[in-house]
Amino acid sequence: MREILNFIDGGLVPPLSGGWLDNVEPATGRVYGMVPDSDAQDVEAAVRAAERAFPTWSRLPAEERARFLMALADRIEAAREDLARAESIDTGKPLALARSLDIPRAASNLRFFATAAIHFHSESHSTGDRALNYTLRRPRGVAGVIAPWNLPLYLLTWKIAPALASGNTVVAKPTELAPMTAFLLAQLCRETGLPNGVLNIVHGRGAGAGAALVSHPRVPAISFTGGTVTGSAIASVAAPLFKKVALEMGGKNPNIVFADADLDHAVATSLKAAFTNQGEICLAGSRLFVEERIFETFVERFVAGARRLVVGDPLDERTDQGALISAAHRDKVLGYLDVARQEGGRILCGGGPPDSIPSGRCRDGFFVAPTVIAGLPPTSRVNREEIFGPVVTVTPFKSEDEVIGWANGTEYGLAASLFTTHLGRAHRVAERLASGTVWVNCWLLRDLRVPFGGMKRSGVGREGGEEALRFFTEPKNVCVQMVPDSPTDKA
Ligand code: NAD
Repeated sequence: MREILNFIDGGLVPPLSGGWLDNVEPATGRVYGMVPDSDAQDVEAAVRAAERAFPTWSRLPAEERARFLMALADRIEAAREDLARAESIDTGKPLALARSLDIPRAASNLRFFATAAIHFHSESHSTGDRALNYTLRRPRGVAGVIAPWNLPLYLLTWKIAPALASGNTVVAKPTELAPMTAFLLAQLCRETGLPNGVLNIVHGRGAGAGAALVSHPRVPAISFTGGTVTGSAIASVAAPLFKKVALEMGGKNPNIVFADADLDHAVATSLKAAFTNQGEICLAGSRLFVEERIFETFVERFVAGARRLVVGDPLDERTDQGALISAAHRDKVLGYLDVARQEGGRILCGGGPPDSIPSGRCRDGFFVAPTVIAGLPPTSRVNREEIFGPVVTVTPFKSEDEVIGWANGTEYGLAASLFTTHLGRAHRVAERLASGTVWVNCWLLRDLRVPFGGMKRSGVGREGGEEALRFFTEPKNVCVQMVPDSPTDKA
C-alpha cells in the first residue's frame, strides 16, 4: 500500500482526523494506496503555515523566487520517468502520454511562470501635468488552488506556478482520484529546499478539504479547474466572502471540418481531439461536424482510425487508450451510450467495453472502447452534455451559418477547432464561434502566453501568461499630484 501524506509547513504529515480514502488503480480496479481524507483542521494548519511563509516569500525579488521554481522544474525533469509512471498508474492514461505530455508540461509551467514573473510589469497613467498614476501589483496572500484528475500534475502546476512566482503562498487541494504526483511534487519541493509553508498540499475529498479551503476566511483567492457543477458550488460559497475566483470548467467542443480541408490531416487531428487521454480532456473535440460533400468519406476514414486505436494496459508502450478514471465514471460514460441509443443514434464503432477486454492484470479495469455515434440531432442530450470519455458524435452540415449555429448551441464555450484551407473562411468562422479558444487546422496547440479559458458555463476569468499573474496579484493605483514648481526650484 502506498501511503500519500499531506505537505504542510515543509513536513509530510498524516491527516489530523486519522481518516483515509482508498486510492484505486483504474487499469486494474484494485486499491493500491491510501489518501488522506483531510478536513478543516488540516486546511487550517496549511493556511497558518502559508501565512507564516508569506511575508518573506512575497518580499523576495522575483528572480529569487524564479530560482526555486526553476530548480523544481529541473527536479521534475530528472524524475520524469518515475512521475510519468505514477501518473499513468494513478489515472489510467497511457504511460507514453504521461511521458510526452503531462510531465514535460508540468516542468514547462514552472519555467514559464518563473521567467514570466521577472518580466511582469504594471501600468502608469499620466494625467496631463496634474498627476502621475502608477499601478502596484502585490500578491494577494494565501492562494487556494483546486485541481481535477484528468491532467493531475499538469493542471496543478499550471496554477501553483503563477501563484508562487508572483509572490503568493499556496494551499493546494489536488484531486482525491489521482493524488500521487502531487505527493511526489511535495517530495521534490523538499529536495529543492523550497522554504517551509510556501507550498502546502492538503489531500482529500471536495466536500471535505476542498470545501474547507473555499470557505476559509483567510484565503482570498481560489483558482479552480474541474466540472461546471462544482464550479457553481464554489462560486456560491466564495461570492459572499468576496473572494477572487477563477473557474476553468467543462466543455463540449465542436470540431468543424469543411470540404476544402486537408483530409488526411483533418482525420488524424480529429482522432487525437476525440480520443487523446480516453477523451478525458476538457478541450476534447467531442462534437464532430463535417461538411456534407465529404461526410461519408471522412466518417469512413475516421471510424477506421478509431477502430485501429489500441485499448489496453496503460503501462504497455503500444497502448493508445487506457482506462477511465473510476468505475463510477466508466458507468456514467456507458450510461450516455444508452442515452445515445434511446435518442436514435447509430453506433458506428465501440459502444461499450472493448471487445477484447485487456487480459491479465487489467481484467477488472475501467475500459470503454473508442465510440463514434452518427444520426443524433445537435439538440440531443448526447450532443449537449459533457460526457468526458472516448465518445464522439458525427453530424453532416450544409453551410457555415448552419454549423456555427450548432457549434454555439450548447451551454459550454471552451474550445473549438475548424479545418479549412480557405483563409477567409478560417477568420470568419473563428470570429463567430462562441468559445474561449479556436484552433484552425490544429488541436491542443498551446502557447503558454495566450489567454486560456472558457465562455458561458465553461469558465470565469482566464489563465495563461499575464492573465494568470494578474489574477494572483491585487492592483493598487498610486496617484501622485504634480506639485507646481516653487519659486525656490526656479532659482
Ligand atoms: P470535479 O469538479 O469533480 O473536481 C475537481 C476538483 O474539485 C477536485 O479536486 C475535487 O475534489 C474538488 N471539489 C469537488 N467538490 C468541491 C467543493 N464542493 N468544494 C471545493 N472543491 C471541490 O471535476 P473532476 O471530475 O475532477 O474533473 C473533470 C471536470 O473538469 C470536467 O468537467 C472537465 O471538463 C473539467 N476540466 C476543465 C478544464 C479547463 O481547463 N476548463 C481542464 C480539465 C478538466
